[in-house]
Amino acid sequence: MRRFLPRPADTVDRSRSVDRFLARRLNEALARPAAQQPCWPDPEQARAVTRQLHHADPIVTPDETVRLSDRLASVARGEAFLLQGGDCAETFADNTEPHLRANLRILLRMADVLAHASGMPVVKVGRMAGQYAKPRSNIVDGLGLPVYRGDIVNSAERTPAARTPDPHRMPRAHANAAGAMDLVRKLCAGEVYVSHEMLLLDYERTVLWVDAGGPEPRLSSGLAHFLWIGDRTRQLDGAHVAFAELLSNPIGLKIGPGVTPEQAVEYVRRLDPHGTPGRLTLVSRMGHGLVRHLLPPIVEKVNASGHEVVWQCDPMHGNTRPSGNGFKTRHFDHVVDEIAGFFEVHRRLGTHPGGIHIEMTGEDVTECLGGAAGITEADLPARYRTACDPRLNTDQSIELAHVVAELLT
Ligand code: PEP
Ligand code: MN
Repeated sequence: MRRFLPRPADTVDRSRSVDRFLARRLNEALARPAAQQPCWPDPEQARAVTRQLHHADPIVTPDETVRLSDRLASVARGEAFLLQGGDCAETFADNTEPHLRANLRILLRMADVLAHASGMPVVKVGRMAGQYAKPRSNIVDGLGLPVYRGDIVNSAERTPAARTPDPHRMPRAHANAAGAMDLVRKLCAGEVYVSHEMLLLDYERTVLWVDAGGPEPRLSSGLAHFLWIGDRTRQLDGAHVAFAELLSNPIGLKIGPGVTPEQAVEYVRRLDPHGTPGRLTLVSRMGHGLVRHLLPPIVEKVNASGHEVVWQCDPMHGNTRPSGNGFKTRHFDHVVDEIAGFFEVHRRLGTHPGGIHIEMTGEDVTECLGGAAGITEADLPARYRTACDPRLNTDQSIELAHVVAELLT
C-alpha cells in the first residue's frame, strides 16, 4: 500500500483516480457535523499542524492491521476471544516504560487465564499507543473551566491557560504513541495490537494509506490497528461514522442504552457494507441493570440481518457512579454482573460472546470498589490516579479474568 497525502480536492493528482475518489469522500465525510471536537483558538494554526502531521511516520503498518482483521474474523465466527483493555485516558506523563510494561503484563496475564480456560486463541488489543482523546458529558468542569479533553487537546491542570485547546499537542500525542508502540513491539513481538477511540478528527485524518485490496478502495489508518467510535459520537449523519466507513481497519462501535435494534442494524449496514466477518465490533455498554433487557432484541435483529459482527461487552461505562466521598467509581460486582448478563444473553440466543473491553491498569490503584481485597469508598483517596475514568487494578483485573474464564468453560 502507498501513503495517501490528502490535499484540497481541487489540487489532488488527476492521474490517480483512486486518490481523487477517496479525497472527495474524505472531504464529504469530514464536512458532516462532528460531535465532541475542541474549539481551537486559532483554526488556521490547527490546520497547519494537521498538514504537517500528514507527513508523520505511521504508528502501525497496514499488514499488521490486515492480520488483526483476520483474527477478528475468527472471533466473529466463534473461534477466538477478544480481550481489549488499558487506561481510560493515556497521558504523556504516564507514557513511561514501567507504566506500559505493567499494563501489557496484566493484559497478557488475563489473556493466558482466558486462553487456558476456553481453549481458544485470545486476540489481545491494548487501549494503548494513542488513547489520548476523551469525549466529555459537560463542556465545563466543576470550577467552570473548559473541560479536560485528553492530553492530545489540553492539559488536566486546573488553569484557564492549561485548559485552552492547543493543536501542538497533536504531534506530541503522535510522538508519544510512536514511543509506546516501539515498546509494545519490543516486549510483545507482534502479539498485541493497539487501539484508541477515533474521536479527534483533525488527528485521525492524518497518516492514511490507500488500500485498494478490498471490494472498494478504502483508507487504512496508520495511527492504530483498531479504532472505535464512542457512544457520544455515533450520530448516523455525523462525521465519525462517515469517516469510519472510509477505513479498512477493523472498527468498533460503542452501543449504550439509547441504541434501538433498528439503529443497530443501520450501523451494521453502514459499517459492514460487504458482509465481512469481524469488520465491525459492536461493544455493548448498557449497565448491569439493563443488559439482560436491552441487548437481546439488538442481537436478534443484527443476527437476522446476516452480518457477522464481533459481540464485545464493555462492563465499565454503563456502571460509573459517584461515590459518597466524591469520586467517580465503579463497583467490581456491577462489572461482573454486566459480563454475566452479556454471556446469558448470547448463550440463550446461540451467538458468540466474543470479547470484553475494559479499563484497567497493572498498578495497585484504588479507583474501583470491591473485588477480593474489598476496596471501600474510604480506600479510594489513597491511590486514585486516573486521568479520567476509574480502572480495575492488578488484582481486580486478574480476578475478573478468572470470572470470565469460568463463564467461558
Ligand atoms: C471510553 O471508552 O473511554 C468511553 C468514553 O466510552 P463510551 O463512549 O462507551 O462512553
Ligand atoms: Mn473511559
